[in-house]
Parts: sequence; C-alpha cells; structure tokens
Amino acid sequence: MAFKPADKIQDLQYFGEFGGVNPSISDSSTYTFLSAKTMFDTFEGNAEGCYLYSRHTTPSNLYLGEALAAMEGTETANVAASGMGAIAPTILQFCEQDDHIVSSRTIYGGTYAFLKNFTPRLGIKTSFVDITKLEMVEAAITSKTKIIYCESVSNPLLEIADLEGLAGIAKKHNIPLLVDNTFSPLTISPKKLGADVVLHSLTKFINGSSDTMGGVVCGSQELIDTLRNVNDGASMLLGASMDSLRAASILKNLRTLHIRIKQHSHNALYLAEKFEADGIKTVYPGLTSHPGHELFKKMMNKEYGYGGMLTIDVGSLDKANQLMELMQERNLGYLAVSLGFYKTLFSAPGTSTSSEIPEEEQAAMGLTDGLIRFSIGLDNDIARTYQMMRDCMVDLGILQDR
Ligand SMILES: *Cc1c(COP(=O)(O)O)cnc(C)c1O
Repeated sequence: MAFKPADKIQDLQYFGEFGGVNPSISDSSTYTFLSAKTMFDTFEGNAEGCYLYSRHTTPSNLYLGEALAAMEGTETANVAASGMGAIAPTILQFCEQDDHIVSSRTIYGGTYAFLKNFTPRLGIKTSFVDITKLEMVEAAITSKTKIIYCESVSNPLLEIADLEGLAGIAKKHNIPLLVDNTFSPLTISPKKLGADVVLHSLTKFINGSSDTMGGVVCGSQELIDTLRNVNDGASMLLGASMDSLRAASILKNLRTLHIRIKQHSHNALYLAEKFEADGIKTVYPGLTSHPGHELFKKMMNKEYGYGGMLTIDVGSLDKANQLMELMQERNLGYLAVSLGFYKTLFSAPGTSTSSEIPEEEQAAMGLTDGLIRFSIGLDNDIARTYQMMRDCMVDLGILQDR
C-alpha cells in the first residue's frame, strides 16, 4: 500500500481511561513511582513506559507526537511549546562550537535570525545559500558542516526545495538533512523523499485555529531520545515543553487536517489562477509559471493540492498596505501574520515576518516592497471572495475595471 499520510493520522486511535473516544488528558506535572529503583532507572533513561516530570514528556504529548510521526513517516517525534521551541533545540543538538551549517537563505524570519545572530555567539557559523541551486549547496559544505537546513516550501517566497536532490548530497557527505515542513503538511512528505528530520510549527496549518503555539521534531528514536535526555538533551534542558492541555487540543484538530488542506489548496489555486489572469504578479506552486511547479508536482501527495500559501506583488508598499486594509474592512480576511487559519490572513513580509532579514538581502532574494503574503482561508464560496478582492483592487487602481 502506498504511503497515505492522512490515513495514518486517522488510523491511530487512543482511548480515554473510561473508554472515551479521545484520550484522557494528563493533568499532572509530576508522576509517582511504585519503587525508588524505577525512578532511578527513569533518570538513567531506561524505564520504558514510565513518566517522570512533564518537561520531559507526558502521555498527552506522546499521543500527539506519535500521530505526527505517523503523518510524517518517521520513527517517532517530540512536541514542543512552539515551532522555534522545536527548531532551535534540534539545531543545537546537532552542533557544537566551531561547527558549520548550510542553510537555505529563504527561511522563516525567526529561524534566519537564530542562525544569523544567535548561534554565532556559540561559535556556530551558517552559510546561507540559494537552496534551488544544488551545486551551490554542495559547494558550501565544509569538513565542519553538521546539518543541511531548509524549508520544503520557503517563507515567504514559496521557493521549492528539491528534497530528493538535497538528500542525495546530504547522504554523500554523511550529513543529516533537516526540513521545516510548516508550509506543506500532508502535501509534501520530506522523510519519504530522503530527509532525516522533519520540523513543524504546529501553530499554523496543523492546529489550524490560531489559538495556540506548538512545534514538533519528527525523526529517529535515537534523535528524540537524545533531545529528551535529562543530562544533555536540548529539548529537555532548554525547557520549551508543550503543555498537555494544548497537546490534547492540537491532536483533535489534527484529525481534520486533510479536509482543511484540500480546501485551502482548492481556494488558493482558484485565486492564484484568477489573479494571474488579471495580470497581477502571482507566485503559487500550483501555477505552471512557478519555477518550482514541476518539482512540486513530482514530490507532492497529489490529493492535497499545492497548499494554501500564495503571494502577489501590487507594486509598492503603499498599495500593499492600502489593499490589505481595504480587504480587512470588507471582511475578506485579517491583516495578521501567521497562517493556516479558517479565515484568510495577509501581511507584507518585508515589513513584518521577514523584517529580520536586512533590506539589501531582501532585495537579493526577490523580496519586494509590494509583496503581500496570503494564507488562503477555508471560504466556502471562493468565486465570491475573488470578486470582492478584485473589487478592492479596482477601487485602489491596482486593476482596471473590465
Ligand atoms: C511560524 C513558523 C515557524 C516558527 O513557529 P512558531 O510556532 O511561531 O515558533 C517556523 N517555521 C515556519 C516556516 C513558520 O512559518
């Protein structure tokens, strides 16, 4: 049978202690032991099935982690309090002083800032490369390189990483490939394409209701055990642990992810095709004009579409701001960062989520002033939404009335 990520999510069932259809929530920060010996063994990392203290892990966190590992096809996973709470410790676990990282230059602003400004304080250097140029990625690798880092679909420019190509380079040099799959859950399965570690901000599509933060690292049992190790595990010691109540609510939302992703993708493709036909500069992996379109098509799990993220360029920051304010006034979406909400969200990346990236670097990577990033919502009637968005553009002189 083919790997079907959504089926995996739905096949995993955990019952509550009274037969509830949802697992009971572990409402405790600490756990009793029946013997002092088991407590000692647990600290040593070898008391299977024993819970110690909730920063380490909890039953609710394990349920969510197992469901996400099933979705990504990895051995196991560890959930964290936020996406950065998963990404930063994982990167640190692989690297020490004098080590080197090869990273895509078009990554989430927070991850970029972490690699550019924070890890150098620990003596860890990063080379930022154009991830779509495999020869540049390979050329940047040195004897000190400990990881290759990228996003399957990059933020905010929606560049597509050739995960099979990158995995080939990573294997050749015996370096793990870490992939942030936040923009493309279900649509792309990085592990299946050769990635070693898959990261997510659960705050976005996976939870999907913009009511909580969360993150996950999906990988081998060995990696996850290392991250949780009480003596030197970065997840355990940096303390960005998820709360059990949150883990339980994210698990429930995860059950409908496949339906949501299909609707996000359907709506985004509709709008992208219309905007492009109107002559608006539109970037969406589902458009044949997207330089990564064929690559995405080759990698994707077809039934989920091309995802919910698209960008348009309306020429200037002024116009972008006016359009976003007008669309919000007409209840077409919210002027907000983040993604994966039921409602469309839009922001100008240059002055918000990617403002950590210096202006000249923004220009070099094609991050223009008039760029608006959309996370397309679950609108039931996307044709109506399009008409109303088009009216906004006409009213602002971005488009001529037909
Ligand atoms: C939001 C985001 C993150 C960070 O996640 P938080 O939950 O905000 O900590 C990392 N990567 C990508 C691609 C994101 O969009």
